[in-house]
Amino acid sequence: MAKSRIYNPEMECMHPEQRKALQGERLRQTVNRVYDNVPLYRERMDEKGVSPEDIKSVEDLKLLPFTEKTDLRDTFPFGLLAVPKEKIVRIQGSSGTTGKPIVSGYTEHDVAVWTEMVSRALGAVGADEQDIVQVCYGYGLFTGGLGAHQGATNVGAMVIPMSSGNTQRQIMMMQELGSTILCCTPSYAAYLGEAIHDAGLIPGKDIKLRAGLFGAEPWTEGMRKRIEELLGIQAHDIYGLTEIAGPGVAFECEEKNGSHINEDHVIAEIIDPATGEQLPYGTAGELVFTTITKEGMPMLRYRTHDICTLYNDVCKCGRTTVRMGRITGRTDDMIIVRGVNVFPSQIETVLVKTPGVAPHYQLIVDRVNNADTLEVKVEMTGELFEQNDSLGEMQKLQKQIRDQIKSVVGILTKVTITAPKTLPRSEGKAKRVIDNRKL
Ligand code: ADP
Ligand code: ZN
Repeated sequence: MAKSRIYNPEMECMHPEQRKALQGERLRQTVNRVYDNVPLYRERMDEKGVSPEDIKSVEDLKLLPFTEKTDLRDTFPFGLLAVPKEKIVRIQGSSGTTGKPIVSGYTEHDVAVWTEMVSRALGAVGADEQDIVQVCYGYGLFTGGLGAHQGATNVGAMVIPMSSGNTQRQIMMMQELGSTILCCTPSYAAYLGEAIHDAGLIPGKDIKLRAGLFGAEPWTEGMRKRIEELLGIQAHDIYGLTEIAGPGVAFECEEKNGSHINEDHVIAEIIDPATGEQLPYGTAGELVFTTITKEGMPMLRYRTHDICTLYNDVCKCGRTTVRMGRITGRTDDMIIVRGVNVFPSQIETVLVKTPGVAPHYQLIVDRVNNADTLEVKVEMTGELFEQNDSLGEMQKLQKQIRDQIKSVVGILTKVTITAPKTLPRSEGKAKRVIDNRKL
């Protein structure tokens, strides 16, 4: 089995003080560049009474204005470009999980930086010329497919650009070509794992996968365990977003204790989403990114709406970069049920720990007689379905899950266990919440 390695030791293992100096210098250059070239940034900075000369180090970051997804929409498509349009060699767009799509322009240098970041993530699973990387993230405006593709090519692996969909064909190619590394969303990895089982194929024997980079949507430790068991692999988290650089902004090392942020290219902050105040390491809040090497569309203090915690303690792997914990939810994915904040990930934690149910679920929110209701639909496994007393078992399970969710989230839900393979599958990002109250 290939060993995990550090792709760029100079940058990934740099002394934190030295990195801070590098970040400060790159931040200064970025601010100067956007102030001169992007009207929106100049106006916002002028409004706040901040001039480029005020930004001397990373500590001065908090003086700068925030940006939001709405800024990208309002200036669509090219209003935030900091270079002439001729310099842009690629457009990528958001998958549109939330609202209208947005686009970002990348220069040749920006694509190279992004490729480097994915290469670091692949290095962490030891990917090299020996590997066959099956990419089943969608190719297109969505950054998943091309991002993984570029990185895998760069580390010299053989790439199978499957894109998403057609599960039977994915499995056939995986088997025939002997794919060793899988790149897709965690929900699709779980789905693939099940389909492989159903086909009677044995991981390790018929299927040669040894590792996977999974991201683009929130997932839990329980889901990781399921995927690792189903596919017989090491499952690593990879995080990114179109506005910053697509997948690779952060990735997990073999310690799997949070994702290392590529801090020579971005600066991460955690803020209180209500007040905008910076929060210390170890405190959960909204993740904010500032790009410090991006040419095409640099982003100053971009609010991701993703909720997580940053950690700066030393990691055993040797990398010295700050790590981000799992995304526990997006502020726009949070559902408020009878006044209680609920994230799909909380429900997932309960479901993946329960034997007898498969990792496929949906949350359906509604309002009946002026009161919110939350129904949790989850599939039973094939094994349970085939048992003689499946009905009795199912009722027991329903109660067990309801009690567990009550103790984790604090509200009573209706739990419905459906027959195997009845909930919709997604080949890209899973749609977990259906909120009928808004309709
Ligand atoms: P969209 O906002 O339309 O989903 P993107 O395709 O750019 O746009 O996706 C970026 C978002 O996907 C992130 O802001 C985050 O919410 C989610 N995401 C990406 N990677 C991960 C990950 N590893 N864990 C949790 N969420 C992730
Ligand atoms: Zn590490």
